[in-house]
Amino acid sequence: MYEHVHRHDHESMISVEDALERILDVVHVLEPEETPILDALGQVLAEDVVSPLDVPPLDNSAMDGYAVRSDDLETARPDSPVVLRVTGSIAAGELPSTAVESGTAVRIMTGAPVPPGADSVVPFEDTDEEERGAYAERPSEIGVLGRVPPSAHVRAAGQDVGRGETVLSRGSVLRPPEVGLLASLGLRAVSVIRRPRVAVLATGDELVEPGQEAGAGRIYDSNSYSVGAAVRRCGGIPVMLGIAGDNLDSLDRKIRQGLESDILVTSAGVSKGDYDVVKDVLARRGMINFWSVRMRPAKPLAFGVFTADGGRRVPHLGLPGNPVSALVAFEQFGRAAIHKMLGRAARPRQTIKAVLDEPIHNPDGRRVYARAVVTRKDGIYRVRLTGNQSSNLLTSMTRANALAICPEDLPVKPAGEVVDVQILDWTEEAY
Ligand code: AMP
Ligand code: MG
Repeated sequence: MYEHVHRHDHESMISVEDALERILDVVHVLEPEETPILDALGQVLAEDVVSPLDVPPLDNSAMDGYAVRSDDLETARPDSPVVLRVTGSIAAGELPSTAVESGTAVRIMTGAPVPPGADSVVPFEDTDEEERGAYAERPSEIGVLGRVPPSAHVRAAGQDVGRGETVLSRGSVLRPPEVGLLASLGLRAVSVIRRPRVAVLATGDELVEPGQEAGAGRIYDSNSYSVGAAVRRCGGIPVMLGIAGDNLDSLDRKIRQGLESDILVTSAGVSKGDYDVVKDVLARRGMINFWSVRMRPAKPLAFGVFTADGGRRVPHLGLPGNPVSALVAFEQFGRAAIHKMLGRAARPRQTIKAVLDEPIHNPDGRRVYARAVVTRKDGIYRVRLTGNQSSNLLTSMTRANALAICPEDLPVKPAGEVVDVQILDWTEEAY
């Protein structure tokens, strides 16, 4: 099961971009799967979608009114209406039974097919229907109060989508309008790149599963849940493996389970103090790198590739243990990896520019991702920090809607300057 162990000098740091590139190098787009259209929200089309039909299927009315022949109405004026004989009525979903001949009209509802012979629809408000007291009933005659051009209020067959037209291309991400469009073609399922199953594993003897008695000195596993939630949010399926103790057997058993997924995301056990156990276990089943990434928080990061039974290769992202570090590292690396597997663009979150309200200090030449709150006032984004930036304080992350970035080569980013900010959530105050 060993491939080889390759370990970078723990002291030599790599950049965030380097780390991301190396991760994305071994993460691959997954295969397509036929998926019910609603479940495919956020997934990527694996093939072009060609319409089997016209939408709408027939010329139909855009208004409630009367289907008419426009050339009957050339002399119509408000003070001298043209009176037409009403020969029928038609609702959405019905098919026309009578043609409109010169001097006649058919009462028509929105969405109903325009009867043969008619070329236009006159809305109720441009007729004398109300004066006739026949509202919502079919009068025997109707006065039209003005001229209408041909095709007025008529939606042409195939106006939205023509039969045989490529309406969505392979590679597009399905949003609510695309899901609706697929339904309008009569499709219940569609071929999309499947969602990755992401095994989520916490490591550490001190950890307890929420819902259990904690016991003195022990803490609840929060990383599995914050990371599991982040996995779900970016389109993956979290497979919760629970907690592995800091010993070989326990870790090995969990990792074996993890190899049934498409990628394994662990937390903790990668910092200098205690990575030895993890390293040993990981090295048995594949190759693993322990990196120091030039970032704060989340400097220690493990990344490797396991070889599962049968030779399938399963990437492993080893996040740091501190709750903020785990999430910030997941944001930078895990999210991009999952997006790549989904066939989506694998790039970091979009950044905006904002005016910094207080300095960001950078004591040791790393890129600082400071937990921050972005607000918008008079069209200008401002950003302040959420206080104490220790990486164990998960509450500092709950108060944040963004990460404000101080570049690695600046010892301080002073207040008043413009910084790049990764938006984590477009909360109300950021709009
Ligand atoms: P480690 O990387 O194992 O040294 O862990 C760093 C810090 O993160 C320690 O204080 C751990 O107790 C804490 N930690 C590790 N895993 C978790 C977890 N799953 N949930 C909450 N805290 C954790
Ligand atoms: Mg630990």
